[in-house]
Formats: sequence, C-alpha cells, structure tokens
Amino acid sequence: MNIGLFGGTFDPIHRGHLALAQAAVQRCKLHHIHFVTANVPPHKQSQPRSAFAHRFAMVALATAQEKAFLPSLLEAPGEMLGGSPKATSSRPNYTIDTVRRLKETFKASDRLFILIGIDAFVDIAKWHQAEALFREGEFIVASRPGYSLADVANSLPEKLRPKPEVTRPFQKQAAAGDLVLSRATIHLLENIHQPISATAIRSAAAAKKPLTRFVDGSVADYIRKQCLYQNATE
Ligand code: ATP
Repeated sequence: MNIGLFGGTFDPIHRGHLALAQAAVQRCKLHHIHFVTANVPPHKQSQPRSAFAHRFAMVALATAQEKAFLPSLLEAPGEMLGGSPKATSSRPNYTIDTVRRLKETFKASDRLFILIGIDAFVDIAKWHQAEALFREGEFIVASRPGYSLADVANSLPEKLRPKPEVTRPFQKQAAAGDLVLSRATIHLLENIHQPISATAIRSAAAAKKPLTRFVDGSVADYIRKQCLYQNATE
C-alpha cells in the first residue's frame, strides 16, 4: 500500500491542508494518509499554540468524512494516551522518530510518502536527521508559483543536493513534475496551494469573522463552541 504521513501544527487544520492531501491521494495513489498533529513542533517551540487536545479534535472533525484520511495520535503527549505526564511531553517531536514509529506497522511492500508544503520544504535541510528522512520515504510537496525546480533541488540536505552545474538549467523551470535523484524522490503538486494560513484564520476568529471559507464547517463550529483564538494577535 502507498501510505501518506502529513504532519502539522494544525492550529487549526484548514482547507489548504485538505486540498494538499486530496491532491496527494490522486497523484501518488495513496491508500490512506495519517494526519499527525504535532504536540511540540520543533520549528515553532517558542510560539504559543492551542492545547494538543483541541488541535487533534479539529483534525478528527475535518477528516471524518474522508475514508482515506486518518487522524493520528503518533505525537500525542503521554498523558493523553493514559500514561502519566512525563518530561517527554514538552520535548519536540522530530519527524524522523514519528516516521520510524509509523513504519513499525508497515508490511514489507508498503511505501511511505511524506506530505509537506514548499514553504516548509525549503528548510528541510535543517530538520533533525534530514538525510535519513529521504531514505525512509518519498516526498510529496505542494508547490507554489515563484518557486523553481532548482529551489527544490537546492533545498535538499547537502549530501543529497545535486551540484550547482546540474541544477542551474532548472532555475527557470517551475517546481512541477517529479524530481527523481539517486537518493531522493520528490513529487511536486502544482496549482493546489490555496492562499490560506492558520495564522490568518486565528486572526479572523479573533475578529469574529466567518470561517467556513477557510475551514470545514465542523471545525468552524468547534472553534466557536470552544471559544478558541479569541485573543489571537496574529
Ligand atoms: P501557521 O500559519 O500557524 O504557520 P500553517 O497554515 O502553515 O500554520 P501548519 O500546520 O504549520 O499550518 O502546516 C502544516 C503543513 O501544511 C506544512 O507542511 C505547510 O507547508 C502546509 N501548508 C500550510 N498551509 C498550506 C496551504 N494553504 N496549502 C498547502 N499546504 C499548506
């Protein structure tokens, strides 16, 4: 089976995330996608975020109607799974660890696909054990206008990055299609990026603006009932 892993802060999950996941299912014939809510996202540790339980609840609501979409507790804090609160609850969740835990459930023929937006992908070389991630699975990247194929290749961890003379001709080529290198495979999804961000949604919620353009109706109801983001400043 082809299995996707889509990690995010999901504060809240929005239509941009769902569009990426739907396009990934079509493009790479994914059987299902695990939506992994990060407890402590390594790159956003210092930013305030809603409680894990709220973010996970919204992921569960937004994915409920789609059989292929599975809300995942792979990065849930210990106490949510019946354990005692441990020091590990505030440790960042590294994707490589999550990937390896998910793959423990895989059959030999299963293939892993890691979903990500290009804004996050351009920083991938800084991720914990970045090179190892490319050994564990293929990437599906939601592209955006303005990014070239060379930008994608140049974002790779140093040891996987093609030489400048190889990527130079790709500088004017839009980030689209498949980039298949000896030790990294990247499938680029074009024209699916929507101008939506969780940051803008939190501001809209604070300003009491309608949210259903940006999030599933069930998520908009949840935000209202739980009074989330009332004091969001950005
Ligand atoms: P924030 O505004 O709080 O930074 P966000 O909207 O970027 O949040 P995240 O949960 O941090 O949401 O993103 C999870 C993943 O989804 C990342 O890989 C990100 O690049 C991707 N992503 C975010 N917004 C979009 C979008 N509109 N279209 C496609 N992918 C997106």
